[in-house]
Amino acid sequence: MLRFGALSKRSGVTRRLVLSASAKINLALEVLGKRDDGYHEVATVMQAVDLSDRLVIEDSEILEVRTSAPDVPSDGSNLVARAAHALREAAAVSRGARIRLDKRIPVAAGLGGGSADAAATLVGLSRLWGLRWSVARLDELAVTLGTDVPFFLRGGAVLGTGRGERIEPVVGMALPLVLVNPGVGASTPAIYGGVTPAMYSDGSHVRQMVAALRSRRPARVAASLYNALERVAAAAHGQVAQMEAALLAAGALGAAMSGSGLTVFGVARSFDHARQIRARVARRSWRCWAVRAIRGPAIRMRRER
Ligand code: ATP
Repeated sequence: MLRFGALSKRSGVTRRLVLSASAKINLALEVLGKRDDGYHEVATVMQAVDLSDRLVIEDSEILEVRTSAPDVPSDGSNLVARAAHALREAAAVSRGARIRLDKRIPVAAGLGGGSADAAATLVGLSRLWGLRWSVARLDELAVTLGTDVPFFLRGGAVLGTGRGERIEPVVGMALPLVLVNPGVGASTPAIYGGVTPAMYSDGSHVRQMVAALRSRRPARVAASLYNALERVAAAAHGQVAQMEAALLAAGALGAAMSGSGLTVFGVARSFDHARQIRARVARRSWRCWAVRAIRGPAIRMRRER
């Protein structure tokens, strides 16, 4: 449990917010080159999906974060704690909050779970503390917490450029998907460290994906999947190719890795088809979900009291 800051006055009635924070997948991810600041220039199509963490936020005199997830840091480096601390400082708030994080999104899995939690913390605490900050203002904090956090403040389907933090919405569709995670995490910097100039491309895969989404045809989306990081991850982790082969053998229209991995996803014709595929690929050592692409916000207020 993390505790920050001094005691402050209670405002009266205890308020309680419940939020869901959805994961994302990268339908296409290209590395365009390397920048002077050491980061890679990317072009990506990110899509929110309905596999989500849950955050329960309550009024409190102090700021505290609890999570039962064993593979998430339980110190100040937890992204929920970092987001809460950053917002409290930026908004000069003296109140606290008690935040409970229930993880369902696998950790270090290329699904952006930590960034989704950070975005949900910003949305939830600005509501709890009555800040009425615009998304544009939250963005300024979001980008200091992680490249993908601005995406989660919006959700749906977006085109991401720069390090992935410059985003613009694109037309999305209710895509049925199957996610498969091997239960082993991958380090994002280590995967990017294996990228060579031969893996750079010109943005054409991402443009193709944007057009495929506009067609609203799962088969066309499946044919346009692309991830430049997949070769790096697959060379070090044999499970990536095994999971993709299992998805295709089970009837997926196409399969690819998400982000820096190691989660892979398959595109299905319908949600029923996704559930059939999920049942066929399920193995004891893999975690599998049939999910849908989300067209609205990635962060949703589930209950408020
Ligand atoms: P990235 O955003 O770096 O591509 P990812 O999507 O693969 O990451 P995350 O689940 O966001 O994976 O975890 C990235 C790292 O952040 C992990 O090393 C994890 O320990 C740390 N982390 C900190 N806070 C959280 C959190 N609330 N949930 C998940 N991971 C967290």
